[in-house]
Amino acid sequence: MNIKVFEKAEIHPKAIVLLRKLGNVFDESDNSSLVDAIVVRTYTKVTDEFLKKYPNVRFVVRVGVGLDTIDIAACKKRDIQIIHSPGSNANAVSELVVLQALLLKRKLFDQIDSLKKNTWRDRTKIGTEIAGNTIGIIGCGAIGQLVARKFAGFDTGKIIGFDPSFTDEELNNFSIVKTSLSEIYKTADIITLHVPLTPETRDMITLSEFKLMKKNCILINTSRGGIVNEQDLIQALHQKLIRGAALDVFENEPEINRQLLNLDNLILTPHIGALTEEAEEAMSVEAVE
Ligand code: NAD
Repeated sequence: MNIKVFEKAEIHPKAIVLLRKLGNVFDESDNSSLVDAIVVRTYTKVTDEFLKKYPNVRFVVRVGVGLDTIDIAACKKRDIQIIHSPGSNANAVSELVVLQALLLKRKLFDQIDSLKKNTWRDRTKIGTEIAGNTIGIIGCGAIGQLVARKFAGFDTGKIIGFDPSFTDEELNNFSIVKTSLSEIYKTADIITLHVPLTPETRDMITLSEFKLMKKNCILINTSRGGIVNEQDLIQALHQKLIRGAALDVFENEPEINRQLLNLDNLILTPHIGALTEEAEEAMSVEAVE
């Protein structure tokens, strides 16, 4: 079997060893197009045009979660099997979500900054706790479920969620009370997004949704850029429609909208939700296995 690996620097070495047991492994600088399998990470776009260059491909292996970079219909048309590693990075992302919530609620970056500027216990930047908060989870799949479990350990109040794939009873098993999107927008203190990027979820959060949210609400997006409209988020933060936000993903990566850098109630991370040593290995090895 001939296998072409794109974004190889981001594939765990153990997975490369496994691939070598299956056959010849090329990287993207190699111009061979007669390959049976293609391995991609986050940024290679597997479009119809792309697939035309590789007429023999039978498998597209997406190391990680989220198939928004893969043209699923184009793969189906060619009878290409898509393989990914669902759940492999759910714990890593869910830990980041809790961390972002705590950082924002406690205004931790502000306090660290104040200390650097020689202000001891800046009383203008006192934070709040997450105990008792209503948590709103949009998308209750692998990550959403772990987020619920972790927040429950912080004695939060109600954990409410929206996901059409699950019944009330199924969500109850994950300590999530099934509710509507509008109820989440209106009542949650922390809203966290865990949906895939699809035509339906693109621009899910715009100014109209921000206007429904509580003034003390914080919004966390570790799912995909484009699900939150960035211009509308900037406006919402300027107008203090919500208290703060955390973004791990952006409409344009890695060239992110520079306006986002000038907001002090916004935490930005460079798409590192799944970047832990554990998840890096699990994502690569599980997909290849
Ligand atoms: P998952 O497939 O287990 O769960 C996604 C859930 O979203 C599903 O249960 C689905 O029913 C639900 N959903 C789909 N459309 C919806 C809608 N319109 N409204 C409400 N729910 C909807 O996936 P997951 O492992 O939980 O990952 C979720 C997303 O997180 C991925 O698609 C990916 O884009 C993103 N992600 C980001 C990182 C990162 O590094 N920041 C890492 C992993 C995954």
